Parts: sequence; C-alpha cells; structure tokens
Amino acid sequence: PATHGVRKVTVLGATGSIGDSTMDLLRASPERYQVEALTANSNVEGLAKLAIEFNARFAAVADPAKLGELRAALDGTGIACGAGEQAVIEAAARPSDWVMAAVAGAAGLKPALAAVDRGATVALANKECLVCAGEFFMERAAAANACILPADSEHNALFQALASGNRDELTKVIITASGGPFRTWAAADIEQATLAQALKHPNWSMGQKITIDSASMMNKGLEVIEASWLFALTPDEIEVVVHPQSIIHGMVEFSDRSVVAQLGAPDMRIPIAHCLGWPERIIGRAAPLDLTKIGQLTFEAPDFVRFPGLRLAYDALRAGNGATTVYNAANEIAVAAFVKEQIRFGAIARLVEETLNSWIRSGNLAPLSSADEAIAVDHKARNLAASLLPQIAAKAS
Ligand code: NAD
Ligand code: MG
Repeated sequence: PATHGVRKVTVLGATGSIGDSTMDLLRASPERYQVEALTANSNVEGLAKLAIEFNARFAAVADPAKLGELRAALDGTGIACGAGEQAVIEAAARPSDWVMAAVAGAAGLKPALAAVDRGATVALANKECLVCAGEFFMERAAAANACILPADSEHNALFQALASGNRDELTKVIITASGGPFRTWAAADIEQATLAQALKHPNWSMGQKITIDSASMMNKGLEVIEASWLFALTPDEIEVVVHPQSIIHGMVEFSDRSVVAQLGAPDMRIPIAHCLGWPERIIGRAAPLDLTKIGQLTFEAPDFVRFPGLRLAYDALRAGNGATTVYNAANEIAVAAFVKEQIRFGAIARLVEETLNSWIRSGNLAPLSSADEAIAVDHKARNLAASLLPQIAAKAS
C-alpha cells in the first residue's frame, strides 16, 4: 500500500454522491490527508458538517444567497468561507495537491479549469467538462503540467488497462454500460417512462442527473466523448458493450489481440481510491469481488434505436466544431425539464437531436479556439434547447 506523505486535497462537489465516496476514503486515513477546500451547490448543512469534520481551511457554496447561512454554520470554527460561482472557483484555485472534480454538469468546468491551470492532480468525475470543452481542457492541463486522472469507472478501467501496453499498440477500447433500468424495455414503454422508473438504477447508486443519463444511455454517449479526449481516440476506436452486471468496467485491445480488462464491484470508491493513491495503491473500502457469487458475466450490443442518445453522441463527436458542447447543453436542459415533469422520457433524446439539427441548420457549427468560446456555445445552446422545449413537449412521439 501507498507510502505517500500527507496530501492536501480539495473536493469540488463534496456533498454529492462522488463527494460522499471520496470523503469516505479520506475519512479512513485522516493522518494522510489534509482537506484544503470543500464545495457544494446549496446544501449548506451538509457542507458545513463535512468542513468541520475534516477541519477544512475553506468552504464554498455556489448559491450566492447562502453566504449568511454558511457563515453562521461555521461561526467560531476558524474555517473561511465564501458563496457564489467565484467562491467555488477560489476553492479550486487554492493550493492543494489533489482535487476531486465532482460537480454535476458543465457548471463544474470553470472550477475544474482553475485546478488544472495551477498544475494540480485532478481526479475527474465531472465528465461534462470534457464533453463541453475537451480539447481546451486537455490543452490547458498539458500547458500547466496538470495531471488528469480519470475517476469515471470506465475511464479509470481504461487507464489501468492501458498500462500493459503502449499507446501506439492500442487498436481499440471498449467501455461497458449496464444498460440501465430500461435495457429490456420496448421503445414505446421507454417513451412513457416515469421519473421514479428512470431513477431506479439496477447497479449503481449515483446523483440524479447521471442516473437519468444512465437510463437514456446519454451517460454512455457522454463517456464515449470523454474517452476520446482523455486518451486521444477517434470515434471508431471506442466501442460500447452492454454488460448488465457492471463488473468489467473497461477493456483495451492491443495489436496482438490481447484484451486487458479491469474488474471490480460497482462501487465508485474503487476508481476514486485508484486516483487517490496513484501512482501507488492504497487500501480500498469496497467489498472484495466474489465472481462465484456473481456467476455470470454477459454482454450485448447496444441498441442505437431504442437509445438514440448514444447514436447522437457518436454523431456529435464526428461533427466536432462545438457539436459535443451542444449535445451536452441540450441534454442538461432536457434532463432538468424531465425532472420537473415538463417532458416525457422519450423527449429527452428528441430535444437533444432537435437542438443539434437546428444548430447545424443555422450554420452555427464552427471551430472553437478556447474554453471560453466553448462556454459561450454552451450558453447559446442552452437557450436554443429551452426555446425548442415547448414544441418538443407538445409533440406526441
Ligand atoms: P450529485 O448530484 O450527487 O452531486 C453533485 C455535486 O455538485 C453536489 O455536491 C452539488 O452540491 C454540486 N453542484 C451541483 N450543481 C452545482 C453548481 N451549479 N455549482 C457548484 N456545485 C454544484 O452528482 P454525482 O453523482 O456525485 O456526480 C458528479 C459528477 O460525477 C457528474 O459529472 C457525474 O456524471 C460524474 N460521475 C458520477 C458517478 C456516480 O457514481 N455518482 C460516476 C461517474 C461519474
Ligand atoms: Mg461511468
């Protein structure tokens, strides 16, 4: 097990599902980790509780209206705090060795970039950063000598499997998908699925947005795009295989036809522990894998017809020029509308497709040259998706 000295760590999105798994690992070895900063969106109570438990130096809440509440909760502790987007960015910019980027959605991009720009080691769970602005995210990491460690389970698996060969010996990668709660459902039933049904993931316990993305398989689409930026892969080099048991997370095929896989229980503490210990291994917190209890590992081809979100991700990746930024923005708007029960489940993919088509028809597809330009496209695409929402909501399938 790892012998590294005390590490200063920051957790962006500390009150979420990934945040919770990360804090569980930090809690297990208090002598090795010093918490610099923690952030949350609006959950002041949860944030203050963690900041006090871990004796953080700084706590930030994204909701600017919550400053007074956070100040009161931390009164007398000596923990500095702030509120608003700028405070979350400040949390990321403060000196620490290791940062967990686990905000949900493209809202996490600016804070993650603040950590990247100061050359931190960034464990990236927040895949929307790469879907929104992957090229610039990776460029800025290279420029600042930041180390990006994939915390998403499939990408962490690929990262581990890649260590058994050279990049130029790789022929393709395979990421697995559980298939979500609607894997075996007919298209007409998926169309009408309720929020409660979409939130019932068979294997993983996760935040609301990613759980819905898993049901639509938009999550796998986001992950195909994420993999392309993390490992400099073309769309043809990335394959998705449905594997309902979620035991194999990712595989790399090399030129000699050896396929190297990473296995583990569906517990995010496994890839997070890998990021936390890297380049060493720490003692994990997940249950050991017992394959005899699991019995069978099965595999299916993904269905691009019942799950159009996956097809759209490949289309957006091939189109480039900001198309993946639009894909992500439209999906965030669609998921938010579905959560508010403004649209039916099937309309999520329709809104994404219609937003992309409308964007392209209007001649908006153009090369981007910076993360700021990607953020501007993200805003514009959100507005476009929101404007298309009423007609998509009204249209029967
Ligand atoms: P979550 O909703 O449980 O937590 C999100 C966290 O981000 C919370 O702390 C929340 O307070 C904070 N947050 C939300 N909106 C914010 C905003 N606008 N500004 C600042 N902070 C904000 O989500 P999660 O499941 O932990 O997922 C986080 C990220 O990790 C997502 O990008 C997700 O796709 C990715 N991810 C999650 C899992 C998982 O198992 N949960 C697995 C792989 C990747
Ligand atoms: Mg994943």
